[in-house]
Amino acid sequence: MLPKIFMPTNNGGVYLQKVRCGKKNCRCATGEKHEAYYYFHRVDGKLKKQYIRKADLNEFVGEVDFITEFRHRIRYKTKLMKDRVKEIKAEKKARKEAGIKEEPIDWNIPRGMIEKLMKK
Ligand SMILES: [Zn+2]
Repeated sequence: MLPKIFMPTNNGGVYLQKVRCGKKNCRCATGEKHEAYYYFHRVDGKLKKQYIRKADLNEFVGEVDFITEFRHRIRYKTKLMKDRVKEIKAEKKARKEAGIKEEPIDWNIPRGMIEKLMKK
């Protein structure tokens, strides 16, 4: 079963580590260590480490990539929205100064969101 990512994280990543399994007679006790993959991420500032089985690795990495990509997109969209709100504010100000009363129609982003941001 795929190990679950319980928290969406800001800075999660999958890393390869060399480890000893602890068995006395294992080759890793004296020689070459085992390779194991871990998912490192922070929860409330604390670094957490989660073991990932090799069989789950590809799927897990895919999920981490998906979450990271998703976060980047949200950040990007938020920036676009904030920029648009700035433009709208500037347009509003310019119209007011020019004595024009009508509202712009080209919102291009959810109206409720803009109104919320405009209040700040
Ligand atoms: Zn070992």
